[in-house]
Amino acid sequence: MTLLEIKNLSKIYHGKNGAKVQALSDVSLDITAGEVVGVVGESGCGKSTLGRSLLRLIEPSGGQLLFEGQDIVPLKKSALKPMRRDLQIIFQDPFGSLNPRHKVGKVIGEPLEVHGIGTKQQRQEKVRELLDLVGLPQNAIDRHPHEFSGGQRQRIAIARALALDPKLIVADEAVSALDVSIQSQIINLIAKLQKQLNISILFISHDLSVIRHVSDRIAIMYLGRIVEMGETEEVMQNP
Ligand code: ADP
Ligand code: ADP
Repeated sequence: MTLLEIKNLSKIYHGKNGAKVQALSDVSLDITAGEVVGVVGESGCGKSTLGRSLLRLIEPSGGQLLFEGQDIVPLKKSALKPMRRDLQIIFQDPFGSLNPRHKVGKVIGEPLEVHGIGTKQQRQEKVRELLDLVGLPQNAIDRHPHEFSGGQRQRIAIARALALDPKLIVADEAVSALDVSIQSQIINLIAKLQKQLNISILFISHDLSVIRHVSDRIAIMYLGRIVEMGETEEVMQNP
């Protein structure tokens, strides 16, 4: 079943001095429920713009985003709220935009609070389950994210992204800032949870070696376009 259909998506940024940047041109891509799609391409080719557009963190300039058949591009921000539960994102630097004073329990439980889910006790229960799921100790709840290593912080970000039982997670360079040995731990964790919970993942990386082992299909981007798309083995065989 198709979960998300990206149809002819385009994005033009209007920079300073009236300069226009065409970051996405006519990008079309389907994501099936439970599928991992890798998106790879050099820096500046439009990967982040694509990933962020799916959550409407960036407003597309044209095209459609059919989520379970409904185009979410024309929806008002307020009408997006139910979809926000189903679509989550993990960034390279997960705590860049989060309040550094918040403890890990708060960071992970916040999406539940924002969406008014459960009682306080049920939310705390869920936070404890999520810590187990991502392999963090229970006492992480009362500590601050900056007390943790890069890999552990990415586990916190994954737990937060899973709090609302999403259908699709965009992993935007989620392991790029980590040491190679830690990278594989986090990639394996994401792959394990993806299977266990049957989530779709759009796995964005500038590094093919990061996504090739976990992606069912791979899209290669160049200058705002998808220039190649296919099953992972197929794409890997092409020179
Ligand atoms: P990638 O994730 O592949 O590195 P991005 O989606 O970040 O690529 O960027 C695609 C293009 O859009 C680049 O040329 C980048 O400089 C440009 N760009 C990204 N964000 C903005 C912005 N807010 N204003 C103007 N140009 C932008
Ligand atoms: P704070 O008091 O730190 O601002 P809140 O009490 O508003 O945080 O809780 C926000 C969310 O964070 C809760 O709904 C819960 O999911 C999670 N949370 C906070 N403290 C704990 C805790 N001690 N154990 C488990 N989860 C917690």
